[in-house]
Order: sequence, then C-alpha cells, then structure tokens
Amino acid sequence: MLHREIPPTAGLPLRWQDLLGLSGELAPALARQLSIPLPALPCSGTAALIIALRVLQQRMPGRTRLIVPAYTCPLVALAAHYCPPLRVVPCDLQQGGIDLDESQLTQLCDDSTLAVVVTHLAGRVADVDTAKRIASRVGAAVIEDAAQAMGALDDGHSVGLKGDVGFFSMALGKGLTTAEGGVLFSRDPVLHQALHRQCRNDLPFSLRWELQRSAELWGYALVYQPRGLYYAYGKGLRAALAHGDEVAAVGDDFSVDDIPLHRLGGYRRKVGAAALARLPDYLQQGRQRAFHRAARLNALPGVSVVMDRPGQQGTWPFLMVVMPSAQARDAAMAQLWTSGLGVTRLFIHTLPGYPAVAPLLQPAGPITVAEDFARRSLSISNSHWLSDEHFERILAQLKAIVASPD
Ligand SMILES: *Cc1c(COP(=O)(O)O)cnc(C)c1O
Repeated sequence: MLHREIPPTAGLPLRWQDLLGLSGELAPALARQLSIPLPALPCSGTAALIIALRVLQQRMPGRTRLIVPAYTCPLVALAAHYCPPLRVVPCDLQQGGIDLDESQLTQLCDDSTLAVVVTHLAGRVADVDTAKRIASRVGAAVIEDAAQAMGALDDGHSVGLKGDVGFFSMALGKGLTTAEGGVLFSRDPVLHQALHRQCRNDLPFSLRWELQRSAELWGYALVYQPRGLYYAYGKGLRAALAHGDEVAAVGDDFSVDDIPLHRLGGYRRKVGAAALARLPDYLQQGRQRAFHRAARLNALPGVSVVMDRPGQQGTWPFLMVVMPSAQARDAAMAQLWTSGLGVTRLFIHTLPGYPAVAPLLQPAGPITVAEDFARRSLSISNSHWLSDEHFERILAQLKAIVASPD
C-alpha cells in the first residue's frame, strides 16, 4: 500500500475527452437525466443554499430561524452569514440514522422558522415527508440538502423534488464534479423561476474564479487516482493528523471567507455534461459494491451501516459506519486513518464544535444523539479503487477491534 491513497469518496473520474469534448450543456442534461426542472447552476452547493434562503426570505419576511441537522457540513450553517438576520438552529438526529428527531423538530418549529433543511447525508434518502408535515403546520419551507446524493431516488423520483427547494453539490469528491458547482431547483414552477432570477441578480460571472476552478478541474483529472492522491491528499492528511488537527485532516476548517458567490462558467458546464453521461452506470456499480460490503459490516457485533428505508434508492459515495462505542471508533481510526484505504471521518464535530459557525447558531435543545453519532461514526470509501482485498483488510481490522474487550 506504499504511496497510494484511495480517495475517501467515490468521485467520478474525469477523462481527457471530457476536458476537450465541449459539446454538451450541463443544465438540460441534468434535467433530462434526473427528471428535474431545468436547474440553475451557481458556483457551489453552499451558494445554491444561499440563493434559496434569500428567495424564501423575500417571500416570508420576518422569519429568522433556519433549522438544520446538528450533524452536517459546517458550510450549511455558514450560509446564514450571507442571509442576515438569519440564525441557525441545530436539530438533533433520530436514534440510529440521519433523520431529524421528530419530537425535537416539532418543538423547534415556530412561526419565526423560515425553513427546515433535510439532509440526504452520505447519499442516504432522508425522511422528507415527516419534516414537510411538521414544517407546514407553521408555514415554514423545506429545503432538501442533496449535496451528497445526486442520482438518489426518493419514492422513485430524484431527491430534491419533495421539498420546496432542492440542491446538489458538484464539489471535488462528490460524485460528478466541476471543481465546485451547485445545482438548484424547485418542483414549484413559480419558486423555480424565482430561484433562477435570484441567481441572475446575485451571481455574476467571475473570470478569476473560473480560471482558478478550471485549473483545479484539470488538476483533478490529472491526479484523481491512488498514486496522485497520495501526494495531493494523503500527505496533507498525514501532516494534519500528526499535528492532532482532525478538522483540517477532513477539510472541515471552513470560514465565511471560503464562500465566493458567482455562477458556474460555460467551460466547466461542458466538462460536467460530458462526464454526466457516465454517472448512472458508475452509481449503479457503486450501489452493488456497497450493498455487498454493508451486509458484511452489519454482521459485525455492534457495528451498523446507515442504510436506506425500504423502497428508497440512495447513492453510495462511502459507507457511513457506526461503531459500538467512541473507543472502538477511535481505535479503528488509529489503525486505518493513515492506511491509505479510504477510511476517514465525515464531519468531525456537531455544528457547535466549529468556532466559525458558533456566532450564527441559536442552540435550542440538546443534541445528544448527533454528538454520539459524531463520536461513533467513521466512513469507508466506496471508490472503485477500493478492491475486495482492500475491503477485507478493513473488515478484519474492525472485526478485531469489536471482538477485543476494552
Ligand atoms: C458539501 C456539502 C455542502 C456544500 O456544498 P459545496 O458545493 O461544497 O458548497 C452542503 N451540504 C452537505 C451535506 C455537504 O456535504
């Protein structure tokens, strides 16, 4: 395993033809492939969320609370900085999964609530129906954060269509990538047009960002394989861990200054459109790999992989594994984080654990389940570069850890 690093997620690799082909258009291709309305394409998933929040604020002035899962990407909370005077209220998770805790969500929702964010974390299809039922009682909107779940189906339709607004991310490592990019849409035609209008108003074309992101996309095409990633990703990971900086190790160290606001440029849209044609097959192969491996992991005592409810069909960028205890999780990470096998952690903390997020938070209840999830979970890459033999090595290590009395 020397000098190889398996990517932590199943990002779709680019081909040289994608970079040079330049015939497709991304928005209509996404609309066709996913059966969603012709989406707006802001510069990131976070920018998509900011636009959605601004549109909702205009429709429901005076509502100042945004309810989000307490365990989610810190960028989601940082988006509120660009939508004053919005404050972020973390909601606890339901035991054993990624859904919002129903009774706490009911308590948190009031007539100052602008929206509830339901997150399809790790590609899993979260329960949007319950959140919709609770939010609608107070007139709040539901936003589906499908940043990690492009291609996932909720009751046979793309995620993002049940809520009032949905968005995907095309950041590096999230399946289809344009080296940052967002996909924003609403099944409601009036709201959908308002999202497009807000994007045109708020998001200028930026030549500087376009050049930088295009260079990053070429860099991705060049180094996105285990040998290249050892240098581009593994070295930084090891250096951060050597300093005990877990947040930097997973790239969670965001601030409000990390959120540019512009639109996705034409060149990267064409590259994305070319790669998108391969996404359905890639996701399908990933699904088969993941089912098989999740079953093996679920057979270990006290270990569980976060799965979909019956009938739902998520995507599998990685397997979200919950260990029997924080000690077991930490023991696993001590052995596996620097093994090059694509084992890492998703978000290190719950939202209150990030200093940059704290000023935007309005905590309103205990988030003990989310905290427990942060302490006991780890992720195993579902990249096609993680071979069966690699996976067996990971499985054997986890097995030894959960078998040994601590
Ligand atoms: C990555 C991510 C985002 C933000 O998307 P960007 O394109 O990186 O801005 C939002 N929510 C979740 C759950 C994410 O994983």
